[in-house]
Amino acid sequence: MTDDLTRTTAAQLADGLADGTISSVEVTSAYLERIAAVDGAVHGYLHIDGEGALATARRIDERRAVGDRLHALAGVPIAVKDVMVTQGVPTTCGSRMLEGWIPPYDATVVSKLRAAGMPILGKTNMDEFAMGSSTEHSAYGPSRNPWDLERIPGGSGGGSSSVLASFQAPLATGTDTGGSIRQPAAVTATIGVKPTYGGVSRYGIVALASSLDQAGPCGRTVLDAALLHAVMGGHDPLDSTSIDAPMPPVVDAARAGDVRGLRIGIVKELAGEGYQPGIQARFDESVALLVELGAEVAEVSCPNFEYALAAYYLIMPSEASSNLARFDAMRYGLRVVPERVADPSAEQVMAATRDAGFGPEAKRRIILGTYALSSGYYDAYYGSAQKVRSLIARDFAAAFEQVDVLVSPTAPTTAFRLGDKLDDPMAMYRNDIATIPANLAGVPAMSLPSGLADEDGLPAGIQILAPAMRDERLYTVGAALERALIDTWGAPILSRAPELAKGA
Ligand code: GLN
Repeated sequence: MTDDLTRTTAAQLADGLADGTISSVEVTSAYLERIAAVDGAVHGYLHIDGEGALATARRIDERRAVGDRLHALAGVPIAVKDVMVTQGVPTTCGSRMLEGWIPPYDATVVSKLRAAGMPILGKTNMDEFAMGSSTEHSAYGPSRNPWDLERIPGGSGGGSSSVLASFQAPLATGTDTGGSIRQPAAVTATIGVKPTYGGVSRYGIVALASSLDQAGPCGRTVLDAALLHAVMGGHDPLDSTSIDAPMPPVVDAARAGDVRGLRIGIVKELAGEGYQPGIQARFDESVALLVELGAEVAEVSCPNFEYALAAYYLIMPSEASSNLARFDAMRYGLRVVPERVADPSAEQVMAATRDAGFGPEAKRRIILGTYALSSGYYDAYYGSAQKVRSLIARDFAAAFEQVDVLVSPTAPTTAFRLGDKLDDPMAMYRNDIATIPANLAGVPAMSLPSGLADEDGLPAGIQILAPAMRDERLYTVGAALERALIDTWGAPILSRAPELAKGA
């Protein structure tokens, strides 16, 4: 029964809770048991809040018993990426810099989860300050891919993807600056959505690159992701870039999933060299399935996508170097007073703290960003990258004149082995080749499992991209394709993952 509960979708849990066949305490306890049994091997969580989760579960069960009107997801537990601040619950961003920090307030997204009555199971592991594609840059050690514990679960949100894929949470949150929701989803056979920029509040989410960061839902089914998206999204006066417009109808789209007559464009530039053959094969099959379902397919060219990676790795570190300046040893988190210096100055304390608190990848990007923004180079680097960004946005605009959605593989390869790319930053950065354009242009995108690659039997992902504020189209295509793929494979792709030994 406990196992059944952890394998049930969030939508089914919500139904069971609503009709009283299960209680939130039962569901939450089942997940906490699962976490106790398998997270030692997976290391998806940095912090587990069993007491807090059960307190919420009890309150929801009591309110339901007296007939209170509750949110559809009330009582359904969730895991929260450790980049989102949680009042009274540690928030580290995967960094020593924030070790032991207990935020005094909740991020807007977290407030919304609490208001919906969703028990928060814990905080999930991530690359330090969300910089990375593998979680190996976490100061607390990497998470592991439930498909093969020697492989990466993607990054930066590999904690969230690994807890979903090992049935340690039915839902999770993520943030995506260049692919950190979608790439982890692709390598674990889960679903991840980066909403339209401004569609989900950034208030209380520790900033990496403010013009690119976007929080979004992670789940095991398209409908579950849509239900969570609807909770997380919407206008927030506390975030100046939050869009003041009605939420796209994501849940309706996920329930309908009708692609007849929809025009789908295959991005010519996101294929070929560098894409693993098994990833390309599963992608081609998914496109064929969409055609069978009545969609029209055409090839579309986005010529400036070629420069997206280069532009991103100037803009992102530039913004990151500025955002990370707040970790100055004076306001919060770590404070290291150099011992060998008598009467150290504020600068010396700052330098010692930043030296001890930031890991190598954070330092690399701070140096890169500071250099790119320095006077004399500003126009040549940051300015040129911003121009490329405009060209990429124009490529999207032109493509969406011809088609309703675009598709590509999500990541060029399946999950690589821990350690394989750690010493080669360029190889690590290239994982994001297909996900970065969406962040540069602010458009929404989803990753959906497309099957298992022949070479290694590991999951492959397909990416769906839509115009800004048309997030519902992701769910229309995602839901249709998910159903067709379940027919093709006989079951959800994730059900092929090996069972983790209890207590391993
Ligand atoms: N992997 C990308 C990076 O290292 C994306 C990170 C993210 O989306 N947070 O910057």
